[in-house]
Amino acid sequence: MTPDKKRAERAALKLLSTHTISEARVPVRALARAAGCTVKLTPLDDDLSGMAFLKDGVKAIVVNSLHHPNRQRFTIAHELAHHQLHLPLLEKGVHVDKAIFRRDLHAASGTRPYEIEANHFAAELLMPKKQLRQFVGPDFDLQDDSQLIELAAKFGVSTAAIGYRIQNVYGR
Ligand SMILES: [Zn+2]
Repeated sequence: MTPDKKRAERAALKLLSTHTISEARVPVRALARAAGCTVKLTPLDDDLSGMAFLKDGVKAIVVNSLHHPNRQRFTIAHELAHHQLHLPLLEKGVHVDKAIFRRDLHAASGTRPYEIEANHFAAELLMPKKQLRQFVGPDFDLQDDSQLIELAAKFGVSTAAIGYRIQNVYGR
């Protein structure tokens, strides 16, 4: 299976437009609930970001409550993607995510295409290109920490996530 990034992005944009969200920061927990998911915060081992599973027909998301709130937001968006896009995967059992943000760069497991799609969905949901372009020009300096920190706070994501996103959107 080849990851379908466009499909993932379209699904995220559809969710945003359905709930008429056009400004940062995106209320990701409320969106997940609106999409029919339960969201539970619970302490997990540090290398675990979260889980997605079906329980008695209910779409469940579990997030590591010990992680930084911005990281939790990315995890919720990532798990929401699995519920929106990867039902056959969840029907096989509980989907557990370890260190998801960099997963698409390093891991080579059988679920890799799913992870890539889920990360694209999460990036588009939390940092939609259209919104990002209002604040970031093509000459944005990725080395400028203070600007990155300000942007990350605006979108409610980590500086690593926003830096990675800018690189992706502007093809750097
Ligand atoms: Zn995942």
